[in-house]
Amino acid sequence: MRVLMIAPPGAGKGTQGALIATHFGIPHIATGDLLRDHVARRTPLGLAVQRHLDKGELVPDEIVLDMVREAFEAAAASGGGYVLDGVPRNMAQARATYQIGLSLGMTADVALHLQADDRELGRRLLARAALEGRSDDTEETIARRLRIYHEVTHPIVAWYGERGILVTVDAMRPAEQVGREILTALEVMRSIVDLVPESARRPIDLTGLGAAFGER
Ligand code: ADP
Repeated sequence: MRVLMIAPPGAGKGTQGALIATHFGIPHIATGDLLRDHVARRTPLGLAVQRHLDKGELVPDEIVLDMVREAFEAAAASGGGYVLDGVPRNMAQARATYQIGLSLGMTADVALHLQADDRELGRRLLARAALEGRSDDTEETIARRLRIYHEVTHPIVAWYGERGILVTVDAMRPAEQVGREILTALEVMRSIVDLVPESARRPIDLTGLGAAFGER
C-alpha cells in the first residue's frame, strides 16, 4: 500500500500516519520528524532549516525532495509500500513526488486528505504546545502555518481528485474514530488498486455522510 497524506497542521497526520504504517507494515516517512531530528542533532542541514521551522515556513523544496527520494529508495528495498506524511505541500512538490515515484515504479495508490476547520486546528495545536513545547506551536506561527496550508497546500487536493486516487475523511472527530474510517477506506482501496486503473476511479468523500443520514 502506498499512501500520501495531505492535511493542515493539527489534523492528526502524525497519529494517523503511524496507525497506517503499523496496520500495513510499511515505513512511515514523516518529513517534519526528519527535519526536527536534523535540528536536534545540529547537522548542517538542521542548522540550515531551523529558521524556517521556527517561523512555520516551508523549507526549500529541494531539501524535502532529496529526503523523499532517499526514503523511497529505502522503502523500495523493503517491499515498496509507504505512508508519506508532510509531502507534498505545494504543487511543485506534488509533481516532483510523482516523478520520483514514477522513476522507482512506486507512485501513490491513495492520496488521503484529512479535513478539519481552522478553529479546531488552532485549539489542538495550542493544546499540544502546552504538552510538547514544539518551537512552531505558538499562536503567531500556527496562524502562519494555517495560512500557508490554505494558500499553497490545499489547492493540490483537486489534482489528486482528477487522478482518481483521492480519499477525503472528516478529521474533526476523535482520533480513534478517524483512524477506523481511514483503515476501512484503505482496505477497500487496497483491493481495487491493482484491478481498476486510476482513470476509471472516482474520488471518495467520506465527510458528508453524517448530513446524508440526517445529522447536522
Ligand atoms: P505540521 O503539519 O503540524 O505543520 P510537520 O511536522 O508536518 O507539522 O511539519 C513541520 C514543519 O516542517 C513545517 O512547518 C515546515 O517548516 C517543515 N516541512 C515539513 N515538510 C515539508 C515540506 N514538504 N516542504 C517544506 N517544508 C516542510
